[in-house]
Amino acid sequence: MFNLANKVAIVTGASRGIGKAIVEAVAQAGAHVVCVSRSENELIKISSNLNENGMSSSYFVCDVSDLEVFNKLAKDTISKYKRIDILVNNAGITKDGLIVRMTESDWNAVIDINLKGVFNGVKSVSRQMMKQKYGRIINISSIVGLIGNPGQANYAASKSGVIGLGKAVSKELAPRNITVNTIAPGYIDTEMVEKIDEKTKHKLLNQIPLGRIGSPEDIAATVLYLASDEAGYVSGQTIAVDGGMTTT
Ligand code: NAP
Repeated sequence: MFNLANKVAIVTGASRGIGKAIVEAVAQAGAHVVCVSRSENELIKISSNLNENGMSSSYFVCDVSDLEVFNKLAKDTISKYKRIDILVNNAGITKDGLIVRMTESDWNAVIDINLKGVFNGVKSVSRQMMKQKYGRIINISSIVGLIGNPGQANYAASKSGVIGLGKAVSKELAPRNITVNTIAPGYIDTEMVEKIDEKTKHKLLNQIPLGRIGSPEDIAATVLYLASDEAGYVSGQTIAVDGGMTTT
């Protein structure tokens, strides 16, 4: 579909779910992909599988909430592959609870990984992308950051924050030919939504005009477009990939 030959991409949250589908799509399009998460064993399996199938990938163990480690990841990528063309900030967690019961540590953990993790990623790659006068930054938010959801004050705040952060840095980095866009997935079939009980899932399904839960590949296809040269005039946008849910 889109050609990413000779591009170098970093994808966080690559060990499962949406991130795993993104690394597969980006590697299939010809980029070298650095797969990032906290789970070394999973990353080894994913990266080896890509390489055995003729694609090009490596891995780096990194907790995205740690700026120092993210900086090391960027430096290591530049020293080995000479560039960073694409950054997909996909790593994320939930720690749900109604506001009256939400603990400070659950608030902090979600903000640290989902929002500060995106800040760390953007900060770590920006200088290199500015030097190259080329870059594609794609941040994964959520429709919860657009419309809210009871029991997810921390998650909604983090995902709204990602949208605002993306809009601000898109304006800062545009003069250096770097685009920054955000994807807001709806309900996607991964371990993250496995926790939702059957009754709630059924209710959610009824709110999706396209009548199905999304797949990780639905999100990966949008990442692929935003990472491509064809999307060179798209920046500062938030694209909901949600089966039409947020228009209702
Ligand atoms: P998932 O299956 O739970 O996977 C989350 C990924 O993030 C894993 O690879 C995990 O790897 C990684 N991760 C978590 N904390 C990390 C940290 N501190 N440092 C590095 N990596 C970390 O979730 P998913 O459904 O694929 O979600 C991916 C993204 O899409 C998230 O940002 C999520 O908020 C967003 N999203 C998902 C949905 C949905 O319906 N599934 C909807 C809207 C938005 P390790 O545990 O190995 O570190």
